[in-house]
Amino acid sequence: MTDDTWGRVCDELQKSVGQNNFTTWIAPLELINLEDGIVSFRAPTKFMRDWVSRNFAEPILSELRRAGVSAERVDISVPLRQVANGAKPAAKPAAMPVKPRKPARAESEPLPGAPLDARFTFDSFVVGKPNELAHAAAKRVAEGGPVTFNPLFLYGGVGLGKTHLMHAIAHELQVQRPDLRVLYLSAEQFMYRFIQALRDKQIMDFKEMFRSIDVLMVDDVQFIAGKESTQEEFFHTFNALVDQGKQIVISADRAPGEIKDLEERIKSRLSCGLVVDLHPTDYELRLGILQTKTDAYRTEYPDLQIAPGVLEFIAHRISSNVRILEGALTRLFAYASLIGREITMDLAQECLKDQLRQSERKVTVEEIQRKVAEHYNVRLSDLVGPKRLRAIARPRQVAMFLAKSLTTRSLPDIGRRFGGRDHTTIMHGIRKIEELRATDSQLAEDIELLRRLLES
Ligand code: ADP
Ligand code: MG
Repeated sequence: MTDDTWGRVCDELQKSVGQNNFTTWIAPLELINLEDGIVSFRAPTKFMRDWVSRNFAEPILSELRRAGVSAERVDISVPLRQVANGAKPAAKPAAMPVKPRKPARAESEPLPGAPLDARFTFDSFVVGKPNELAHAAAKRVAEGGPVTFNPLFLYGGVGLGKTHLMHAIAHELQVQRPDLRVLYLSAEQFMYRFIQALRDKQIMDFKEMFRSIDVLMVDDVQFIAGKESTQEEFFHTFNALVDQGKQIVISADRAPGEIKDLEERIKSRLSCGLVVDLHPTDYELRLGILQTKTDAYRTEYPDLQIAPGVLEFIAHRISSNVRILEGALTRLFAYASLIGREITMDLAQECLKDQLRQSERKVTVEEIQRKVAEHYNVRLSDLVGPKRLRAIARPRQVAMFLAKSLTTRSLPDIGRRFGGRDHTTIMHGIRKIEELRATDSQLAEDIELLRRLLES
C-alpha cells in the first residue's frame, strides 16, 4: 500500500467517522505495513490501542477495501517501553514503508514530566503514626479508581516523604492503570514550562497538553507563591482538570492557608479536597526506617555487623528529617566497610560526630517566645510580662510548654526567661496546656504548627 493510498483512505475516514474522532484516534496512528491481509499500526498508548481496536477497526478495514486494498485484520501495537510519565521512545523502526501522518493532538506527545526515582515506591516506604494517613491517601489515589478527593494535598517539613509518596503513586499507577496519562513535576518545572511556552508562543499547546492529563502531580507548590502569572495559569489548569474529574495531587511544605503570597482563591481550591500532613518522624518510625534500610543493605553486604543498640541510638539522637537520617546511615556503612570493622556504638559515635552535634542544635527559649508571640499576635513584652489576661496568658503557657518540650532547659531556668517566674508557675502552665491539648483541637493544631516552624 502506498503513502497515497493511505492518505486517500484517511480522507474518507475523516468523513465516515467524523473530524473529531479522526483527529483523536486515527491521526495519531502510525501505519507500519500491510502483510498477509493484516494491516499493522503503532499507537502511542495502550489505551488508544484498545479503544481504536474496539471502535475503529471496522471503519478502517471497510475504507481500505473500498480503496481496493485487501485487508482482513487490524493489528495495533504500542511501543514496548513506556516510560514512567507516559513518554514514548522517539526511535522509529528502520523499515517504515509509509511516512506517518503528523499526530494531530497532544494526546500522542510525550509528557514533559520529571523523571521518577525508581527507589521511591510504596514497598520501600515505612509507615508509622506520623505518616499513616498520608500513606493511606496516596495508596487510594494509586488505585486509579474513581476520584474520591480532589486534590490530595500532602504537606509537611522537608525530608518527610512527600516526594517519595508522589513517585510511589506514579509507579503504582503505571502498573494498575497503564492507560492513564500521569504527569509528575515540580511547581518550579511547571513555571519553567509555562514561561517557555509563553516565549515560544505555544501557550495553546501548553494548555492542551496539561488538560489531556489524567493524573497531575505537582510537587512543592509553595514555589509559585508570589509568581502571579504562573499562579493564574496553575489555577486554570487545576480547575479544568478538576472539572473533568481528573485526579490532582499536590505537595507543599505547609498547609494551603499558610502559604504566603498565594491567591485566596487558590488556597481555597487547594483546601477543598483532602489535606493531610506528614508529621515529623517519631522514634518508632525512625527506628523502622533504619531497620528497613539496614536489611536492604544487608542483602548486598551479608557480612555487615552491627552491634545491638546502635540503630536505637541513632534513632534517638538524629533529627526527624528522614533524608538526614538516611545520610547518617549511609555514612556509617561506608565508614565501617572502609576500615573493615564491626559497627559498634563507639564507631557510630566517632563516625557521626558532626551529624549528632548538628541535631543537638536546639531551639532557644527566646526563639520560641518570638514565634509564639507572632503566631498569636501578642507583643513579646506582654508574653514575658505580668499581664494575666486570657488572651495573653494562654499563649504564654503555650510558649512555656514548647520551651519544656523543645529545649533541655530546667523549669527554674525557663522561669527566669519568662520574666523571673517561679518554677511552679511554669509547671502549672505546662500541665494546663497538656490538659487542654487533649480536648481542644485548635490548640493542638497551633502547637503542632509552632513545633514544626521551630524545628524546621
Ligand atoms: P520531602 O519531599 O518530603 O522533602 P522526600 O520524599 O524527598 O521528602 O524524602 C527524603 C528521603 O527520605 C528520601 O530518600 C525518601 O526515600 C526517604 N523517606 C522519607 N520518608 C520515608 C519513609 N516513611 N520510609 C522510607 N523512606 C522514607
Ligand atoms: Mg520533596
